[in-house]
Amino acid sequence: MSAAASSPSSSSMTKRLEGKVALVTGGASGIGETIVRLFKNHGAKVCIADIQDEAGQKLRDALGGGDDVMFVHCDVTVEEDVSAAVDAVAQRFGALDVMVNNAGITGSKVTDIRNVDFAEVRKVFDINVHGVFMGMKHAARVMIPRKRGSIVSLASVASVIGGMGPHAYTASKHAVAGLTKSVAGELGRHGVRVNCVSPYAVPTALSMPHLPKGARADDAVKDFLAFAGGAANLKGVDLMPEDVAEAVLYLASDEAKYVSALNLVVDGGFTSVNHDMKQFED
Ligand code: NAD
Repeated sequence: MSAAASSPSSSSMTKRLEGKVALVTGGASGIGETIVRLFKNHGAKVCIADIQDEAGQKLRDALGGGDDVMFVHCDVTVEEDVSAAVDAVAQRFGALDVMVNNAGITGSKVTDIRNVDFAEVRKVFDINVHGVFMGMKHAARVMIPRKRGSIVSLASVASVIGGMGPHAYTASKHAVAGLTKSVAGELGRHGVRVNCVSPYAVPTALSMPHLPKGARADDAVKDFLAFAGGAANLKGVDLMPEDVAEAVLYLASDEAKYVSALNLVVDGGFTSVNHDMKQFED
């Protein structure tokens, strides 16, 4: 989408990932694409790992390809793919400093527990939880011997509260937050940091189809932002893929050198404040 393709923010004035190597799952589009672009702008060598071969190769070529950016076909539900992607990065770029477990899906819109389809639940868990598990496992395999590294996974506000998505999605994102703490607890002694980022609603191919019919007019991104903004705590700003990428960049960079096991919630306060008692209104 166009928002993901726009240029990075002012933080690119200093290169915060110079000399680092990163792998981004689901990096061919959406938030993942924005992370790839921002990381590249900050001096990182980046591997786009995705099931969308054409989009991934196109992004690689758009970013100059060759020396600094590579694409690998990688389905995060297939352990051999994740393992091979990590090995390909280490072989091509000599190391893996940053692993971003970004690939994710919401699954169907059904939120009636009586009608839950377990094939669907398994699919959501396969990508959102097992995919992250495998990303952590294989990143740890190459980071532990080097005694450093940063693993950042995309969770969601649905990792903190209910009612922000289908049941399977909410359960899967709570699992990502739990897994982050668990693996951070193990990898601390090896100097490897493990964190996750939990955004509120961002206009992407994942979220925009969930916009209620009544809120749709002509411009999908604008309509989505109006709807999300209406329910948001923080007014006057829109949450865009670039804002999420900035949070991921912080956790990936040495500026977060003592930050681990954090669920960095990027929600303008949405999950922390009371939405009903309007005591501060005129
Ligand atoms: P998106 O659908 O726009 O992009 C997801 C990317 O993941 C795509 O490039 C897709 O090809 C890739 N992908 C899907 N299945 C894959 C698989 N099995 N293996 C490898 N790649 C796969 O989604 P997005 O909105 O950019 O979401 C990225 C992450 O951010 C997800 O984990 C999502 O849950 C999370 N998130 C999104 C929002 C939002 O509002 N968009 C909010 C909170 C959290």
